[in-house]
Amino acid sequence: MLDQISEQVYFIVSRSFDSNITFIKTGDHEILIDAGTGLYTSNLDEDLQTLGSSIQSITDVVLTHSHIDHIGGIIPLLEAGSPKLYLHEAEAEPINQGDMSQTLGDTFGVDLPPFKIDVLLNEGDVLDFNKVKLRVFHTPGHSAGSIIMEIEDTGILLTGDTLFPGGSFGRVDFPTGSPEKLVDSLRRISEMQFEIGLPGHMNAMKYNARQSAMSSYKMAKQWFKM
Ligand SMILES: [Zn+2]
Repeated sequence: MLDQISEQVYFIVSRSFDSNITFIKTGDHEILIDAGTGLYTSNLDEDLQTLGSSIQSITDVVLTHSHIDHIGGIIPLLEAGSPKLYLHEAEAEPINQGDMSQTLGDTFGVDLPPFKIDVLLNEGDVLDFNKVKLRVFHTPGHSAGSIIMEIEDTGILLTGDTLFPGGSFGRVDFPTGSPEKLVDSLRRISEMQFEIGLPGHMNAMKYNARQSAMSSYKMAKQWFKM
């Protein structure tokens, strides 16, 4: 399901095991936030074509983290075109050294060939795509290199697998997960100013997303007894 969030931002809600994908069109940049498993790339292509884009013309893919349900779709995208790839350095460095273990491909029986991440992200980075600026916040907990991003001046927060709607939050039982770090990341998010949250799974938080962040922070604190 394809949902227009603002003039330049579209939210594609996941098909089954896939992550959600956000599409941003600005000037000569056609950007994806996360790439899904790659099992449904032809559906993604159909959605993009309705917006005058396609998998061939994607210029940038910014990954919220490197789990297989977010990163597997890189393979068909690299076959179709030549997008620039972005990922937090904590997860990009192993991948660039050929270590794909943090992607959980093996765990889920997916053979993910090695590839290179072009841009290693850090806390405070601002990705400047003409009219759209993405500010990076390092929010570990679901994984060591999980990030969220603020689309500046829009009130939109891309929350990855850190914050989900309805008091939910990302699981911490995969390698590099940490309940302490997740609770701290949710606390940080609950103190930010934003109206709309676009998560890596489940539905968009279209109104009062900050309220949602506060309840996820509270739930996580209780759940992990912190
Ligand atoms: Zn994940």
